[in-house]
Amino acid sequence: MSVSIHRLKRLALCNEALATPLADSERAQMIQAAAGKLEELFDTLQIDYRNDHNTRETPTRVAKMFVEETLSGRYSAPPRITEFDNVHGVDGLLVTGPIELRSTCAHHLMPIYGHVFIGVLPSVDSKIIGLSKYDRVVEYFASRLQIQEELVKQIGQYLVDVTAPRGLAVRVSAVHMCKTQRGVRGTHRGRMVNSAYYGEMLRDRRLKEEFLQECIGLERAPL
Ligand SMILES: [Zn+2]
Repeated sequence: MSVSIHRLKRLALCNEALATPLADSERAQMIQAAAGKLEELFDTLQIDYRNDHNTRETPTRVAKMFVEETLSGRYSAPPRITEFDNVHGVDGLLVTGPIELRSTCAHHLMPIYGHVFIGVLPSVDSKIIGLSKYDRVVEYFASRLQIQEELVKQIGQYLVDVTAPRGLAVRVSAVHMCKTQRGVRGTHRGRMVNSAYYGEMLRDRRLKEEFLQECIGLERAPL
């Protein structure tokens, strides 16, 4: 087995993906190494995980969670985008959402949860992508240590690069548990909202208003 320790040591920013996705063997090695460090952390915090029936498996469980779930977007390839010809020449604003957002705050390692809305202004001669792919793109960039301001831009820029629409809008509305469970211990109803606009969506105020109206309608719509 030729696992490159060297590669596992190469670092990237907290919300960047590694240059090459991890192979299964590298993933396993990373989980094992992280579990060892979490055991050290438990020792430092004087938690007797060796003899504690509640925490005996926790270092390994948490290491797996980091690598395979919470931070998985850093270690895997971007989602494959299925494209369809825009046969009907759709050029009006499409809005999709709410898309579930589950991420982790880069400052405190606490959950961020909420909703994402994406507005697309396709160009007549470009491709359109399958609706579920927007959810996958959100999940890919959310599965990292994030701050909301950069998450919105990462989702938006990726979709612009891959689908080349006439315009695009991304809006995130999220609760940050680092603000509800610690610090000021604010209400869970307190959300942070931010948006990013591209192309015609950036320049046209009417389009922005249409997008925001659709977001409000989708957020209120009964299931
Ligand atoms: Zn935080």
